Parts: sequence; C-alpha cells; structure tokens
Amino acid sequence: MKGDEIMKKSATTRRNFLQTTTAGAVGIVLARPKILAAQASGSVRIEEPFHGAVLNRRHGKQVSEGLKIQVSGQAPLRDRVTINGAPTQREGTRFTSEIVLRQKQTEIIAVSQGSFGRHEHQVRVLWDRQSQPRYRFSIDDNSFFLRDIANNNYASLFDCFYLKNLRELHSKYGTRFVLNIYYTTGDGFELPQFPDRYKGQWRDNSDWLKLAFHAYANKPDRPYQYAPASQLIADLDKVAEQIIRFASEQTYSPPTVIHWGMVQPTALKPLYERGVRVLSGYFRRQNGIWDVNYLLDDVRSEYLSRHDALMDFDSGIVFSRVDIVCNNTPIERIVPILEPLAKNPNHAEIMDLFTHEQYFWPFYSNYIPDHFKRLDGAIYWVTEHGYKPVFFHEGFLGGPE
Ligand SMILES: [Zn+2]
Repeated sequence: MKGDEIMKKSATTRRNFLQTTTAGAVGIVLARPKILAAQASGSVRIEEPFHGAVLNRRHGKQVSEGLKIQVSGQAPLRDRVTINGAPTQREGTRFTSEIVLRQKQTEIIAVSQGSFGRHEHQVRVLWDRQSQPRYRFSIDDNSFFLRDIANNNYASLFDCFYLKNLRELHSKYGTRFVLNIYYTTGDGFELPQFPDRYKGQWRDNSDWLKLAFHAYANKPDRPYQYAPASQLIADLDKVAEQIIRFASEQTYSPPTVIHWGMVQPTALKPLYERGVRVLSGYFRRQNGIWDVNYLLDDVRSEYLSRHDALMDFDSGIVFSRVDIVCNNTPIERIVPILEPLAKNPNHAEIMDLFTHEQYFWPFYSNYIPDHFKRLDGAIYWVTEHGYKPVFFHEGFLGGPE
C-alpha cells in the first residue's frame, strides 16, 4: 500500500514538474538547501510543560525547595541548549532538563546557541502548591426555580422541590452548588419580580449555595459568541444587581460558566474585572471544530481537552474542563466516566461536575426523572474518593492559594 502511494506521488510530482516548466526546476533546486538550513537553524521550542499549565504534586516530585518537574522540547541538533541557565541533556533534536518550581508562577526560558545564532523560547507555568483533590458542582440555565418560588410565594425557599433536593445533597455530602441564572424565563417572569423576603434565608445558606450570572435568557443559543463584550457585561451587571438585591452580597458569585461556553476574546479581561477567575467549558471537537471553548485557539483547546485546567495569562482567567454532565450521563455511566479521570494525573486533581436545571422539571420536554439520583451518584463517588467540595471563585480553583 505505502509503496503504491509513493509511486503515485512521484508520478504526480513528475507530471506537475513537466507542466510547470523551468520555474519549477529552479524551485526544486533551491528547496533542498532550504530544508537543510531549517534543520540546522530551527528555533528552540519547549514542549513540556505547556505555556499556562497548572501543575501540582502529581506532575513532578515534591522536594524540600518546591516541585521538581521535567522540561523537554526540541532544538537544532548541534546547538547548546540551556533551561533557565542550566545545561540540558540532548538526544537527537530533543532536550530534557529538570527544574524546581519555587513560587506560584515560574518563567521557563530555553536558550539555544549554535552556528545560526541564539534562539529563545519562554513559557510560564503555575504551581498549585497547596493542591488537594477537590470538586465543584455547577448548574447551568437556571430560571424555572425562581419563577416557581415567586409564583407560589412559599414560606421557605426550600419548599421549592429543586432547592429542597439540592439541600439534601448538601446535608449528605457537604456539596456546594453554584446556580448560574438567567434574567428572564422568557415568558414574562423577570428577576425584578422575585421578592427580597427570602434574603435572610439566602444569606444563611450562602456557605454552600451561590447564584451567578449565566445569560440574559435561554434563547437565543450562543448569545455571546459574537456579541460585543459590552453587551455581555451589561447583562452580567443586570443579573448581579438583582442577585444582590434579593439574595445578598454573600450569595453572589462571579460567573463560572457563560451560556454555551462562548464569548469574544475581548470579553475575557472585562470578565476578570468583574471577579471572574475560572470559566468552565467542554473544549470538545465536533465536525473538525473546537467548540464550547470560549473561542480559544485550537492548540489550547486541544490541551484543555486532556487536562483539568489552563491559565490564560492575558486575562488572568483559568479555564477548566467540565468532567461530567449529569443530564447526559445515565447512572451506570457515572463511574466509568469518573474512574479513569481520577487515575490520570492530568485530570485527577479537580472534578468539575456539571448539569442543567431544565431537566429537573416534569413540565420540561426532556425531563429526566432520575436526575437527582444522577447527581447523588456522581457526588457520592467523588466524596468516597476524597474530593472536597469547593467554589471555583474562591482561592485558586477553589483550593488554598
Ligand atoms: Zn447555558
């Protein structure tokens, strides 16, 4: 097979060559020395760790001065390569070295020097020094439960079956929930109609139950994918103002997921200024396109599809990959999804658990009767495996800074 392909290729090349006359011939003559020059003078490149990597004890060796990690990459064959000034081991075009991370952020500088001069590649990584296994639980697309409470004028927030069931999970496992909410259900109910008479109750439960902005409404899909940052921020401010009015400052959380996980790159800095420190997404590839990835570039999206987290230094926001979507995961699939993640050092430290509100409601077309059982299954498993409940907007990815 392979041989056939090479034959075909050379036949095509010959045909092209004949068609392109002398310009083609000159091209071929010049191409060869050009390739050799590239091999000799190509730039130095650090491959591991990745720029923006979030590293913890699982990625290296804990030593008295810090975390010892391996650095590796590619450089021209004959160049002398150093990492932060220290010589590296060479093996073909590959180089390797070890460094010790001593602070939260470390610059790693690879310098190669040879007959074509000096080249440099610099990356920055984060050391999650006090890292511990932890999980967060985030629920998207919330609005029905607020309408339910407002319409029924319950004596307690927890007379609403949705909050009652979440509180049960909290009592059982200590789970913390952040509910990402809309300004309107889209059928006439808007947050200003929600009474402030539960404010004390919200405050009393704010150690485990938070509200955050998610979008103005469920429709249209992908509302902020191409919207100007100013529109996203205006919607965020509107919802934030309402949360603080009816549920208190203590219940407010900065957004942790934006509807559809898509925003303009120019929105990231303004989001950081509104207190956003972590944004969760799927970072999945569909039909050849990376999606639900906050429009991050392909290289970083691919990295995130294989890791818990990645820092975007330009904005200061850490991106987190969602580990499980409960409304898509039948009970018997929960452990087969979580178990391999807990065994993979790049996924094991942080469990980003996730679902959507609408599937809890019997009137919803895609109602899932065992939705709460699925949450229980996922939370039970992470609890049994030593993961602690956190909020992503606190500390570093929910852990101590
Ligand atoms: Zn959403």
